[in-house]
Amino acid sequence: MQIGVLRETADAERRVAATPETVKKLIGLGASVAVESGAGAGANISDAAFSEAGATVTDRKAVVSGSELLFAVQGPDAKDLKGAKAGATLAAILAPFADRARIDGYAKAGLTTLAMEFMPRITRAQSMDVLSSQSNLAGYKSVIDAAESYGRAFPMMMTAAGTISAARVFVMGVGVAGLQAIATARRLGALVSATDVRAATKEQIESLGAKAIFVENVKGIEGEGTGGYATEMSDEYKAAQAALVSSHIARQDIVITTALIPGRPAPRLITDAQIASMKPGSVIVDLAVESGGNVEGAVAGQSVIVHGVTIIGHKNVPSRLAADASALYARNLFNFINAFWDKDAKAPAFAADDEIVKGVKLTEGGAVVHERLAN
Ligand code: NAD
Repeated sequence: MQIGVLRETADAERRVAATPETVKKLIGLGASVAVESGAGAGANISDAAFSEAGATVTDRKAVVSGSELLFAVQGPDAKDLKGAKAGATLAAILAPFADRARIDGYAKAGLTTLAMEFMPRITRAQSMDVLSSQSNLAGYKSVIDAAESYGRAFPMMMTAAGTISAARVFVMGVGVAGLQAIATARRLGALVSATDVRAATKEQIESLGAKAIFVENVKGIEGEGTGGYATEMSDEYKAAQAALVSSHIARQDIVITTALIPGRPAPRLITDAQIASMKPGSVIVDLAVESGGNVEGAVAGQSVIVHGVTIIGHKNVPSRLAADASALYARNLFNFINAFWDKDAKAPAFAADDEIVKGVKLTEGGAVVHERLAN
């Protein structure tokens, strides 16, 4: 069977869904691989490097029409996959809640689609978890972006001309991105504090050498829903959290927000009044800006200055580290395919009752089949 690797068409998407390393591994399984010319350019992978790894480098039409399985980072429109084989499978980040019509388009085109970001958070699927691999890099990059905008140093420095005090960094939302943001800010020498609604993160924050800022003794404090994700909090909790954050935030130089709730808009964590309480020159990075934003006034794709505070709202942060993000994403995809590989058929066999397959499959046989997308 042929696996096709598509060139990304979305704005400012620099990642690619395969690397020479994963191409070799896929060929090792017995597949042939066709890569669309220019697919790796944004991640500094040349067509020649893909050819040397054993792939056929060709145009989009040939990749689409000749492949049983298509790899992409972001899901292209179904019309961009015209000419695909009947029943071909597309594995990509499909963002069904952001663009349901595109998913209906896949169903109509008879494509089987697998949403990599729906990978269940179970031990067996850890090496296939694209949300983790990409969020980790986004968390790192958020601190680097903040440091670049911040007109001061991060570490404390004792010099002959006097002492520079360490930057105070506050991380809100301590999932995969937040943990990496804490670790990165610590490595740069900042004084780091962090908060989350999930009580389990307290220990994780402290184990990284940061201070945990937590609402205590309030109803509805558990905050942990299924799969380790956060739940929407009670009004009482939200009020207590706002008061705690208000007093803390006024003393911070850098704030990184990463809070998400699956299938819902991102929770609003920082108000305009709280921004006004910060020192001029402070920097906020809103990693949730594309999901509605944690920060009042944050604009997706822009840096804005509000009350003298820079609010950074980069879109698609993992793509800003395209080489590493592609390497990890490509390995996630390979690990996924490898786990379902049928050695005799030399093709993946996605058993319909498998927990992972049920978790990621959005469309099949002309219909939308995922329970979270039932109308
Ligand atoms: P996420 O991206 O969904 O959310 C980011 C963080 O924001 C979470 O920690 C969440 O609790 C927090 N948050 C939500 N609302 C908030 C609010 N109002 N105030 C403050 N914080 C808020 O999270 P994630 O990075 O996907 O990680 C979620 C959990 O899943 C973590 O515990 C992670 O370790 C776990 N995980 C498990 C596996 C696995 O077992 N295979 C894989 C990846 C992640």
